[in-house]
Amino acid sequence: MAKLTLTSLGGAGTVTGSKHLLELGGRSLLVDCGLFQGLKALRLKNWEPLSREAASIDAVVLTHAHLDHSGYLPRLVREGFRGPIYCSAATADLAELLLLDSAKIQESDAEFANRHGFSKHKPALPLYGKHDAERAIGQLRPVAFGKPVDLGHGATATFRYAGHILGAATVEIRWGGKTVVFSGDLGRYDDPITPDPEPVPHADYLIVESTYGDRRHDPVAPAQALLQVIERTTARGGTVVIPAFAVGRAQELLYLLSKLKQDGALPLTPIYLDSPMATDATDLLCRHGADHKLAEDVCRASCEVATYTRDVDESKALSHNSMPKVIISASGMATGGRVLHHLKAYGPDARNTVLFSGYQAAGTRGQALLGGAREVKIHGQWIPIRAEVANLPMLSAHADVDEIMRWLAGFKRPPARTFIVHGEDDGPVGLKARIEADLGWDCTISAQDEAYGLS
Ligand code: ZN
Repeated sequence: MAKLTLTSLGGAGTVTGSKHLLELGGRSLLVDCGLFQGLKALRLKNWEPLSREAASIDAVVLTHAHLDHSGYLPRLVREGFRGPIYCSAATADLAELLLLDSAKIQESDAEFANRHGFSKHKPALPLYGKHDAERAIGQLRPVAFGKPVDLGHGATATFRYAGHILGAATVEIRWGGKTVVFSGDLGRYDDPITPDPEPVPHADYLIVESTYGDRRHDPVAPAQALLQVIERTTARGGTVVIPAFAVGRAQELLYLLSKLKQDGALPLTPIYLDSPMATDATDLLCRHGADHKLAEDVCRASCEVATYTRDVDESKALSHNSMPKVIISASGMATGGRVLHHLKAYGPDARNTVLFSGYQAAGTRGQALLGGAREVKIHGQWIPIRAEVANLPMLSAHADVDEIMRWLAGFKRPPARTFIVHGEDDGPVGLKARIEADLGWDCTISAQDEAYGLS
């Protein structure tokens, strides 16, 4: 009888590039299809050929829309993948935004390299372009939560809420007589917006993320921490610039700010959302009301708390407006996007604050500033940073180790084997030790490109 195997083509030993391949009797299903991001050595991996022909993959199952889980799809399509991509309806809508934006960034990076002649390749080519992203979007097949979906070739998938971001799912795949469960990225319990990670009753094999496998989140209420930073900044006549991920984090910040305003705090402080993608993602939150906890009026109030700047002129005007205010803008780690213009404008003045709102990966401007750097290079120019630099570490879309353990407690019996993925440094080791100590399960930290037999 044919044997089911699991091979991680990415997302093992790192938190990016998630690609987990299930193979059975010459057929294959890919769970997630993410970009490697962060340090250059990781980003270069996106250019290495996959160890399987893209055209030989029968279908892709997507846990959620974040680019480290979806951003390689246009490249897979460019390389010949023509199968369906199954995901939740909200994930399909968010993936459309993110993939088109990612294609734009890939194209402009290649164009920039050509203009400045620093590519080894002449001309430099983008990893993929708009056309590839559009094809990938055309292959998305939205499915409902909670009921098994036929994937073809005798396989079914059941999507359950993972929390994390709008549309995020855990996926249970039944194939070849085995049940294999993928956690995707697990969210937090009692989050004001995303649903709690739903328990899964049974897995023969489990693939679980470990981003915070060795850490607990700060229990401080994020609204209070946010309020304190804004109050002390505006009291000295300054502006708070918040670099934020356009999908997920920007909406959470809007929700917190609208709650503060409702409670009578910050009555006079104007709030701006300066990111077209974040604006679109905020609209999607209100459209997918069944997939999150916010009531319709609360969702609408969150959307209305900010003034939206769509075009570049409005964005530039914001950089020259000296009134104390809050500006939320992407990208979240200040690696690109409109927030760079605001850092240039507001960073040199000590009255202002640059407030980071999430995980800052190695090699990013965000990590450098939080590490104490007092100048950053933006668009080829060194900018002195005299503004206060602060962080809201309690804002995280990822379960911490206790929350991962709470989700694992939902399984009625131990899986035959648990594979630990999507972690770096001590995350995977910490989670393995904790699962072995508390649950006594058989755990393996997955290695990239190693094939594990599931039988
Ligand atoms: Zn994610």
